[in-house]
This record gives sequence, structure tokens and C-alpha cells, in this order.
Amino acid sequence: MLTPYVPKPERYSGMKYLRCGQSGLRLSRVSLGFWHNFGDVNVYANCREMVLGAFDLGITSYDLANNYGPCPGSAEETFGRIVNGELRHYRDEMVISSKAGYRMWDGPYGDGGSRKYLMASLDQSLRRMGLDYVDIFYHHRPDPETPLEETMGALADIVRSGKALYAGISNYPADLTRAAAKTMRALGVPLLIHQPSYSMLNRWPEDGLLDALAEEGMGCIAFSPLAQGLLTDRYFRGVPADSRAGGASVFLHPDRVTPELLAKTQALNAIAARRGQTLAQMALAWVLRGDRVTTVLIGASRLAQIQDNVKAVDKLDFAPEELDEIETILKKDA
Ligand code: NDP
Repeated sequence: MLTPYVPKPERYSGMKYLRCGQSGLRLSRVSLGFWHNFGDVNVYANCREMVLGAFDLGITSYDLANNYGPCPGSAEETFGRIVNGELRHYRDEMVISSKAGYRMWDGPYGDGGSRKYLMASLDQSLRRMGLDYVDIFYHHRPDPETPLEETMGALADIVRSGKALYAGISNYPADLTRAAAKTMRALGVPLLIHQPSYSMLNRWPEDGLLDALAEEGMGCIAFSPLAQGLLTDRYFRGVPADSRAGGASVFLHPDRVTPELLAKTQALNAIAARRGQTLAQMALAWVLRGDRVTTVLIGASRLAQIQDNVKAVDKLDFAPEELDEIETILKKDA
């Protein structure tokens, strides 16, 4: 049997934690996601180093989904190997999430928002991770073909069954979020959290969603807060072969790295430097500003990035002039 990992005793001293909406659950202001870089195509030693390193930095919130890999499902297997191996004594110090909503297996029951798909998918995720329960189970995206009552009813029953402690939704627009929250309240299982994309380059939650979450008492975990790496210095000297835009990912094309984007990110970088932050740290602090977002859900390809990013929590406040200056840069035509 693997020797248990001995985490750093001081791991909770540098991180900040915030209550998720009106719930009693506090989340680390930085969460780690497993969408990229944790599949069976990736080097296990690097995955292990990132998870153990994140835990040592006070990150308590770990975000997975049935389809993360490649191949789909393998990120959950990688994570399960670590959490049931060296971190096996620390399950109660971790908030582990999974989701279902995108295509996962063939036929009519491997996609969407049906009770049939959600129940089966969570059972598969638990088996892959070797866990009895997840802390948060999400419906990954709205499914217009399934009645909201069916999807929310499945989430509520999953929580009642103990296979998840809390329920969440992801990628739901503001009006559907309100309807989902109302449905869940009526079922006696409040929705804990919403997972939208949100960054300096993608501000759709400001158009009604953040207000809806505040009014419904829900928390917010913002994914891709670094715009998949565009809001860092990763592309300042070209597109590296080992970067997301330069590698095999189909989700970030190198065409996104334009001279206009670089002009913006260089200008933002100058403000970050004045604040004593890296661009990545300032981009994360900006998403967390004002506490409307509970936690930023970052990705990483190496531990050094996580170490850089967690320092964002050391300076979350912005002077009004800084926010104005950032706004001016962001509003320049791309
Ligand atoms: P980010 O916007 O944080 O991008 C992460 C990437 O940015 C890294 O892989 C790395 O790129 C680069 N990076 C991170 N930190 C630094 C740094 N300090 N300096 C330089 N480069 C850095 O998030 P992701 O797009 O990865 O998404 C995060 C998580 O959000 C996912 O893992 C998943 O859990 C969740 N998610 C949820 C979705 C949903 O529909 N609910 C959809 C998408 C994501 P590189 O690889 O080039 O080194």
C-alpha cells in the first residue's frame, strides 16, 4: 500500500475561504479543475505533483466531470488514484465535484439532462474515482429537450441518496437559473452553486446571471478565469509548443493569439506589475473582486502555475482608478 502523503501543516494559512452563497460550505477562493492535463495521455507524475501541491497550498475545491480526459473518464481515474492513494486520509478536507450533461456514451441515455443519464453517470463517476459520494454534483449544461423538473428532480434525489452532498448547475442562463433555483427550493434541496465561464475577456455573467445568483442565495464558481491561458504571460513571446494553444487541444486555437489581444494583455500586464502582481494573479483577483464570485476555477499544466495563481488572494482589492483603467483597455476594439 502507498505511503500516505504528509501535507504541509501550514496549508490553510495562505489561502482565503468564502461561504458559497447562503450555504454553510466554505470554498477556497481558488479551485482546481481537471478538464485539461489530467487525462491518460498526460504524465501521471505531473498530475500527482499538481494535486498534492494544490492541497499543500490550501486549495480544497477540486472540479471534475464525467467526460474530462482524454480519453473521457480518465481525469476522474487519475484523480481517484491520488485521492484514494496518498491523500486517502484527507477526503474530509476536500470538496470534490463532478458533472454530467455532455455526451459521454453511445445511445440515447449518454447525453442531456434526463434522470436516466444523470443517475447512471454519477454512479460511473463514483466508480472511476473510487468514492462513496461527491460533494457537489452538477448538471453540466441546459438540455432544452428535458423538462427542468425532471433534471432538478434527479439532482434533488441524488442529494437525498447521499451520493452528492450538494447540487449545482453549469452554463445555465440567468432566467433558467432562477427557474431551476425555484424548482429545487420547492423540492427542499436548494441549489448550492452555478458554474459559468467568466473572465476579463468573457463577461456574460455580468448581464443578469450574477444578480440572479445573489438573489437566489447561490454561490458562483467561475471557470476559465484566465481565458484558457490568454490572460497570462504564456503567449507574450509566441505560441509555445507545450501550451494549450500550441498543443493538441481543440478548445484553444492559436488564431486567438492576435496582435490586438497581445496589445491588451501587455497593457493589463503593466497595471498588474504596478499592483505587484503577475497578469494571471490580477486577472483572477478581478474575477473575485467584490465577492460576487465565490471561487475562481483555474486549470494548470504544471505546479508552478498553481503556485503563481494562489497568490492572487493576497491582493483582491482594486482602487476605482485601477478598475477604470482596466475597463478602458478591455473596451478597446479587438
Ligand atoms: P484557465 O482559464 O485557468 O486556463 C488554464 C490554462 O492557463 C492552463 O492550462 C495553462 O495553460 C494556463 N495557465 C494557468 N495558470 C498560468 C500561469 N500562472 N501562467 C501562465 N499560464 C497559466 O482555466 P481552464 O480553461 O483550464 O478551465 C479550468 C476549469 O474549469 C476546468 O479544468 C474545468 O474544471 C472547468 N471548466 C468547466 C466548463 C464547464 O462547462 N462547466 C468548461 C471548461 C472548463 P497551458 O496549458 O498552456 O500551460
